[in-house]
Amino acid sequence: MRYPKTKALFAGAALVMSLAACGDDSGGGSGGGDSVDIPVEENPDFPEGSTMAELSEAGKITIGVKIDQPGIGFQEPGADTPEGFDIEMGRIIAGQLGIEDDGSIEWKETISDNREPFLEEGEVDIVIASYSITDDRRKVVGQAGPYYVTGQQLLVREEDKDKITGPDDLAGVKVCSVEGSTSLATAQDEFGADPVPLGTYSECVDQLENSTVDVLTTDGAILLGYAAENPDELEVVGEPFSEERYGIGYQLGDTEMCEFITTTIQDAMDDGLWADAFEATLGESGVETPESPEMDECL
Ligand code: GLU
Repeated sequence: MRYPKTKALFAGAALVMSLAACGDDSGGGSGGGDSVDIPVEENPDFPEGSTMAELSEAGKITIGVKIDQPGIGFQEPGADTPEGFDIEMGRIIAGQLGIEDDGSIEWKETISDNREPFLEEGEVDIVIASYSITDDRRKVVGQAGPYYVTGQQLLVREEDKDKITGPDDLAGVKVCSVEGSTSLATAQDEFGADPVPLGTYSECVDQLENSTVDVLTTDGAILLGYAAENPDELEVVGEPFSEERYGIGYQLGDTEMCEFITTTIQDAMDDGLWADAFEATLGESGVETPESPEMDECL
């Protein structure tokens, strides 16, 4: 892993974390930024045979997450666990299953392209990985949410910020994005960009920094995290030009699991835990805490 500069970005978060940790007896992973005091149910009760009962009885869960997206899902080199808004959502869900982040949550790296296969093959129990809800994805996996809404934007080198100001400036320009993402499809299908598809966004950042490509396009929330790490060199430009509704992936057809995830996130939105989690993570990249979105019904 790279991004040693993340330390600066998370210095503020560390302060919030240490304040939030006062009187925190909920445990939590070491070295991963236990930023919010997340309740862990002592005796959760679920319908027999349900996925929730199975996970709760096993006392462990495997959650697919990104680990190279500051503010969302990011693992510092040498840290035991990742940190970010998606990670907090994972802890909130695990907590309602009675599972604490003390090694009982396996954080498994997913990249954009393997999120559906990981769910279909049972490699992970759920996916929380900047995972936009789409009709096509909902044909093969379940997606509960949205727990956050962002939109596609552009990241450019500082010196290009007046030249490339929005998607209409992309014709013939080398634009990096990630295989299996909505961002790549939008850049390819809707704008005349010269697409450079890679496996992860951090690889695209490398290519942007060394001028192999001129633009990185994906969700604004992801780009703001990279820009915050390198404010003198990288800049997010233009208005969002898509709507990305982040959902939590689960096994297709598991409606009980969908209801459980939806209720858990809705409760966290209602009691302030969701906003606390946002402020301690994405809020540190300069994103204002939004209104909580309305969750979809489970069908
Ligand atoms: N949210 C978009 C997607 O799910 C882009 C970010 C990503 O690839 O994780 O495709």
